[in-house]
Amino acid sequence: MDVQRTIIEPHGGKLINRELAGIDREEYLEKCKSLSSLTISKWIISDMEMISNGGFSPLIGFMGEKDYQSVLKYMHLANGLPWTLPVTLPVTKEEAMSINVGDEVALYSDEGELCGVIQIEEMFEYDKLEEAKLVYKTMDDNHPGVKKLFEQGDIYIAGPIFLVNRPSHKPFEEFYMSPNETRKMFNDLGWSTVVGFQTRNPVHRAHEYLQKTALETVDGLLLNPLVGETKKDDIPADIRMESYQILLKYYYPLDRVRLAIYAAAMRYAGPREAVFHALVRKNYGCTHFIVGRDHAGVGKYYGTYDAQEIFSHFYPKEIGIKPLFFEHSFYCGKCLNMASLKTCPHSADDRFILSGTKVREMLHEGITPPPEFTRPEVAEVLIKGMKQKGEG
Ligand code: ADP
Repeated sequence: MDVQRTIIEPHGGKLINRELAGIDREEYLEKCKSLSSLTISKWIISDMEMISNGGFSPLIGFMGEKDYQSVLKYMHLANGLPWTLPVTLPVTKEEAMSINVGDEVALYSDEGELCGVIQIEEMFEYDKLEEAKLVYKTMDDNHPGVKKLFEQGDIYIAGPIFLVNRPSHKPFEEFYMSPNETRKMFNDLGWSTVVGFQTRNPVHRAHEYLQKTALETVDGLLLNPLVGETKKDDIPADIRMESYQILLKYYYPLDRVRLAIYAAAMRYAGPREAVFHALVRKNYGCTHFIVGRDHAGVGKYYGTYDAQEIFSHFYPKEIGIKPLFFEHSFYCGKCLNMASLKTCPHSADDRFILSGTKVREMLHEGITPPPEFTRPEVAEVLIKGMKQKGEG
């Protein structure tokens, strides 16, 4: 009997699919030749992909003003569902002049590849300072998310989209899975409970500790690294992907973990992005989601546990997926073990704690971080990868 084990509902109750296939796609390929067109950024392309594969369910397109305002002010869509980040399509005033509400517009990458179509229902101006303040909690343009926001066009165009061509994920295409596919996979594996793990970094010992602690109580782990746009000094996704595979091979029970990419761009919106990340992983079929210290944070813009505290603003039922909160974790030389502020009685001097920036610097210089911080096999892949890219 085919037992449906993964019972968590997608956000809003239905997994969205806006990816055209077969005859519909053929039709649009032809039709797009005569539509007006816009060039969209990598970030927007990844949002198109996430909307169309159901990762951003219940969204079927880029947000209109009512949803946008409601998300900014109340962290809920206008229909009352929790949603913490705007998913919007900015254009310049000049671009906006060339299109009208009611138009279908073909969207192309800056390399001229057709991505999809938007059916424009609304065009509206918005307040960048307000968006920065509410979403990122800062108006400082040193914040990578705020910088992007300030640089983008002044008009949002909104409406349902269709994806015509899914972006390539070479060289790690084999790790692309849609939420539909991960849900089926969890079911086939017999997993009832699955913990999702978001990262834009290599998996260090502390990450591994959180994942394995969670694995003590759930059936499986979805290691779901973000491979969309990140800030320039983050470690490139292709190098990270190789490092994850090595780590899994040597240190994980392979029957209890699956690696799949998360194609979206990194917003660095800290607390709001933590909730967003959790909702998206619910769409992928995860029942649990790890939120550690300063999740999706950058610099010193957010408090260490703000990304955990924000969940108290929602009813657990409306979020659906269960966040698993973790304290700052590290290897302790006295415990001779991984531990956290909750379990280690020793002093800071006994703990191996390195900032992300420090580790990136070490890797750039070809210095292997201590094994208490990063598995040597992982460090080797990272250093080699950075050298090959000329970043080492
Ligand atoms: P992101 O910026 O996407 O959150 P990170 O790689 O920084 O990516 O973190 C991935 C997850 O691991 C997040 O939930 C983060 O809070 C958590 N985390 C990272 N390092 C630690 C640590 N030393 N102790 C506890 N949690 C951590």
